[in-house]
Amino acid sequence: MGRGVLLVISGPSGAGKGTLSRLLLSKQKQLKLSISATTRPPRCGEIHGEHYYFLGKDDFEQQIEENNFLEYAQVYDNYYGTPLKPVEESLSNGQDVLLEIDIQGALQVKGRYPEAALIFIAPPSLDELAKRIYGRGTDSPEVIEKRLSLASAELEFIDKYDYCVINDDAEWATARLQAILEAEKSRVYRKSE
Ligand code: 5GP
Repeated sequence: MGRGVLLVISGPSGAGKGTLSRLLLSKQKQLKLSISATTRPPRCGEIHGEHYYFLGKDDFEQQIEENNFLEYAQVYDNYYGTPLKPVEESLSNGQDVLLEIDIQGALQVKGRYPEAALIFIAPPSLDELAKRIYGRGTDSPEVIEKRLSLASAELEFIDKYDYCVINDDAEWATARLQAILEAEKSRVYRKSE
């Protein structure tokens, strides 16, 4: 059996990565979501081991030292990282894996796994992005401002990605993600593995 496909979804906060990932996972049962580690405190309803592995800063830094992350980055003053072992095990077992991570992390993954498919989820416009972030009501005004200014900087990185999916309509955008996964699975080099 050949290796699984590594799909990496990222893009500005508020572009809808989370919603699209959930929809994609509900339609592609063989696709496995990688659970990240973070030093950010859990939000209401978030469960350790399900949404994230919530670690203390010292613990996270020790895991960095031990090379236990496929990639890691500092996002909004907290560490976030993808545990290496489960991803590597799934891919070697032929299982497809989805990472939903920030842009710095996505670029590190591409450096390590050039065959990974990097997908940029873009909002229809920056105005629409602002509306979505304000509408979500989960962040303070300072955090929202930080997220918005980071978002316009992040849009500059689109050309480092393999695909760009504009999230104008969640169902349509998910259908495009499914098409990308199918295309990646059909690559000739996979057929000869
Ligand atoms: P949140 O705190 O809203 O859950 O996530 C903040 C940002 O961190 C999002 O852009 C999310 O995609 C990113 N993120 C989540 N997990 C990881 C990870 O393992 N690595 C990296 N580099 N970014 C991550």
